[in-house]
Amino acid sequence: SVKSLEERPLTSKPAPSGICRVAVPGPFMEPLDYLPPRNSPSPGPGQRVRVGLGRRDVVGVVIDVAGTSTLARERLRPVREVLDDTPLLNPSLLRLLCWSADYYQHPVGEVVQQALPVLLRQGKPARPGRTLCYRLTGTGREQDPATLSRAPRQAALLDALKDCPEGLTPSELESVPPGGWHGPLRALRDKGWVEACERERAPAGTAAVETGPELNLDQTAAVEAVRALFGSFSCHLLQGVTGSGKTEVYLQLICLALDAGQQVLVLVPEIALTPQLVRRFRRRLDTPVAVLHSGLTDRERLDAWLSVRDGHAGVAIGTRSAVYVPWVRPGLIIVDEEHDTSYKQHEGFRYHARDVAVMRARMEEIPILLGSATPSLESLANVARGQYGRSRLTTRAGGASAPRAELLDLRRQTLDEGLSTGLLQRMEQHLAGGAQCLLFLNRRGYAPTLICHVCGWVAECPRCDARMTWHHGDGRIRCHHCGHEKPRPARCPSCGGGLGGLGEGTERVAQALARHFPGVSIGRLDRDSTRRKGSLESVLDDVRSGRHRILVGTQMLAKGHHFPEVSLVGILDADQGLFSADFRAAERMAQLMIQVAGRAGRADRPGEVLIQTHHPDHPLLRTLVEGGYEAFAEAALAERRAAGLPPFAHIALLRAEATAAAAPHDFLQAARAALQALRPDSVDIWGPAPSLMERRAGRYRAQLMLQSASRPALHRALRAWVPELAHLPGARKVRWAVDVDAIEL
Ligand code: ADP
Ligand code: ZN
Ligand code: ZN
Repeated sequence: SVKSLEERPLTSKPAPSGICRVAVPGPFMEPLDYLPPRNSPSPGPGQRVRVGLGRRDVVGVVIDVAGTSTLARERLRPVREVLDDTPLLNPSLLRLLCWSADYYQHPVGEVVQQALPVLLRQGKPARPGRTLCYRLTGTGREQDPATLSRAPRQAALLDALKDCPEGLTPSELESVPPGGWHGPLRALRDKGWVEACERERAPAGTAAVETGPELNLDQTAAVEAVRALFGSFSCHLLQGVTGSGKTEVYLQLICLALDAGQQVLVLVPEIALTPQLVRRFRRRLDTPVAVLHSGLTDRERLDAWLSVRDGHAGVAIGTRSAVYVPWVRPGLIIVDEEHDTSYKQHEGFRYHARDVAVMRARMEEIPILLGSATPSLESLANVARGQYGRSRLTTRAGGASAPRAELLDLRRQTLDEGLSTGLLQRMEQHLAGGAQCLLFLNRRGYAPTLICHVCGWVAECPRCDARMTWHHGDGRIRCHHCGHEKPRPARCPSCGGGLGGLGEGTERVAQALARHFPGVSIGRLDRDSTRRKGSLESVLDDVRSGRHRILVGTQMLAKGHHFPEVSLVGILDADQGLFSADFRAAERMAQLMIQVAGRAGRADRPGEVLIQTHHPDHPLLRTLVEGGYEAFAEAALAERRAAGLPPFAHIALLRAEATAAAAPHDFLQAARAALQALRPDSVDIWGPAPSLMERRAGRYRAQLMLQSASRPALHRALRAWVPELAHLPGARKVRWAVDVDAIEL
């Protein structure tokens, strides 16, 4: 057809008798060779095919077409079926996928599968489907949500539907009113304001319904700096605290790219991709915004993916795996909260979406913008080396000034359930002044240890080298590492003595606060308190409305919420990150502390941050408090340089685990010997050593670390070594994985 002729240039020249090299699911580091199909034209790169693999039929993607195979022709099987008339993936994405497979030393077929929506992996056609959705009727469009003030959930729905003339799907509705949408929707349908419809795609002419604020000087300078980079590869860091207006800079740049006819890819951490953020984008941009995250149905994900691939959506906003969405008019990539560790996948294909995004921008010759209040040390080192540009946003929108931070020396304080007298007094003052307080403790549950006061027995996880956390609310003890749980024993199983909690989690702190501040409403924000659907929103609402005067929470506090009436932030335990065996722990603790501190304050009432510590003289902690994040980062980078650690060296781990205690060690010893036999140039080998938590979920874990100051040297060694691993003695007795640029030790 005419259409397929137009799309032809995407493929390389078809080679009718060529060998198809197909990326198939399975442990194959390279594509497998197949003969062209018997009864149809030979597929080109980027097309899906069905091929035989052992006794199964699998869906694979043609990577390229070669003249010859290393295998004899008689041993090759023909492609059984060609699934796409035109390439599903274009050459530049195929290149990125192959680069990823090589860089992370992961089987290419698994990498390609990971980049495809589930329905495409299953061989379903690459066509948008029709989705049931709900939209406003003519009468509905004339209604003012303000008239529904007695039915706030209906008003919220009406408001959301007004932003999306093409209608909202059930999963999009899921997030609109806190506490369920079925009831309010039925009410609106009964009034004749809403109707069900089927939607293929948002109309291409979607228009912005809102314009942004005028940018301040810093923001304008940032936009101009990035605009000047359009059309070629360049990496730029946008550094500014929460509320300094980074998202406004993104939106302006997106508009500029859209005006130039380009598409923009925006990556955000899972937890930051809220319905509010998506709505903000939809209201402001003259283009359909495709949203890609793990909460979508398979159908929704495929439709969103196709709308980007077909060039229909001008903007794709998504979490980690969206970095592999195909597009036709690459313009700009934005990675928000670039320091966030959730960009790194922790199992299977262990890629880092930010790093892949940088490579993608390089291959597609477009700029990439990395935003953060607390950039990773990697990115700051790149700025220092002159490889990344940087813009700073120094003022907070609305004029709020940065909070003052102070260390509270716990050594001279009596502690009540983790709360020092100094902190409690200060809280009292702030509460008396009508402000709110926020307390951060990165430990949920009541107490991290359940201990016998008579014999010292502690509740340990039978499957991990870890203690079980006592949860008071439901009277259970749980392992936070493997999920094992059971009722809290009434008495010591060893001596029958009485049991008690050692240490504090958020639950216990909230209880203690209730004792200290009777009559003051206290909210708790952690995974336990927000398990029920809608409960997260309701806690946040209660803080924003001022009902809760105190909020206690885990790192969930650090993401995306701004509480202008909070004037005191207490960090209950700063010491967790200071003495960890993981060299990145201090960086993470500093980022969390700054992010949490950033929740507080407004123009006329700067926030105050109190940090409880037993180590007030710790140099990194002092630098953070006295000099802020950048001074901390400089000091931390100096330490990393002196120790030859990333970003001044490159590391890769070989991880192994097994139920038999000795198996990981034996395999890793063999792997070490194999690596040494290759005599790798300028690569140091450390280990094998047990992992930080040796036993987890019933498996013993160990690792071998490769370290090199030279990235090419490290990768040369990996390329020669990794293909040998599967054949080593003991390889089949363990689960093993290669983790390039590991960020957790
Ligand atoms: P960040 O992404 O850095 O957290 P946002 O871009 O979300 O910051 O801005 C925080 C708040 O300040 C938002 O409500 C935004 O609309 C507002 N804002 C940002 N820039 C400006 C500006 N130049 N003038 C007025 N308000 C602004
Ligand atoms: Zn006992
Ligand atoms: Zn466990």
